[in-house]
Amino acid sequence: MRFDIITIFPEFFTGPLDYGIVRRARETNLIDANVHDLRGFTHDRHRTVDDRPFGGGEGMVMKCEPHFEAVESLVPPETRASPEFRNTAVVLLSAAGKLFRQATARRLAKLDRVVLICGRYEGVDERVAQHLATDEISIGDYVLSGGELAAALILDSVTRLIPGAVGNADSTVNESFSAATAAEPDDVLPAITAGRSPSNGAHGILDYPHYTRPPSFRGWDVPEVLLSGNHEQIRRWREERALEKTRRNRPDLLG
Ligand code: SAM
Repeated sequence: MRFDIITIFPEFFTGPLDYGIVRRARETNLIDANVHDLRGFTHDRHRTVDDRPFGGGEGMVMKCEPHFEAVESLVPPETRASPEFRNTAVVLLSAAGKLFRQATARRLAKLDRVVLICGRYEGVDERVAQHLATDEISIGDYVLSGGELAAALILDSVTRLIPGAVGNADSTVNESFSAATAAEPDDVLPAITAGRSPSNGAHGILDYPHYTRPPSFRGWDVPEVLLSGNHEQIRRWREERALEKTRRNRPDLLG
C-alpha cells in the first residue's frame, strides 16, 4: 500500500511515520509513505497556496491549482478511467466531510494507494472536493487547524489493518468497532458525484463551499452568486448549500 500525503508542513510527519506499527510497516515495505510539499506545485515567487474567498468572509482559502497539480503528478488524470484507479483513493481531509469510522479504515486498507490532502486556513477550494477527491473525510465533530493530524490518524488506522502490520492478526479483528462496523454503512461517495456544502458551528451544521480564484477552472465555474456582491443572496446561498451538504453528509446533525 502506498500513501502520499500533500501538505504545506512536510516536517510534521517526521513523528507519526517513525514509531511503532507504522514504522515497522515502512521498514518491512508493507507500506510506502511519501510526503509532498504543496508549495512545490506553485509557480509564483512567493509559492502562494491560498487566496481571499470569493463572496467575502474571514480567512483565506487554499487554491485549487496546486492541489490538482500535486495529485495529478501522482495519479495522472488519464489513469482515473483505468481499472487500477478503482484501487486508489484521493482523500480530502475536511471538517465538513463524512465521518471516518473503522469501516472506512477497512475499506481503505483494501486499496493499493491512498492520497491524503491536508487543508489549512478556512479550508480548500471546493472544486478539489468536487472534481479531484474521491472522498471527503472528517475525523470527528471538531475543527482542527489543519488536516495533518487527521491524515496521520488515517494512515495509522489503515496501516494496522494491512495483513502483517500487526503481530497478531486477531488483534485487528477483535477490537473496538470491528463487530459493529461490519454492519455500518461506509458510504463515502466519490466526490465527483456529489454537490457540496458549508457549515458553521453556530447552526450545528456543516460548512458551506468555499471558492477562490480563478473564477473558472477547467470549465468549472464559481457559482455566479458569489461574484454578485449581493451579500444577502450570498448569505442565503451559503445557508442553502450548508443544509444540502449536511443532509447529504451528516443527516444526524439535523435530527
Ligand atoms: N472552515 C472549515 C470548516 O468550518 O469546516 C474549517 C477549516 S480548518 C481550520 C483547516 C483544515 O483543517 C481543513 O481544511 C481540514 O483539512 C483540516 N481539518 C479541520 N478539522 C478537521 C476534521 N475534523 N477532520 C479532518 N480534517 C480537519
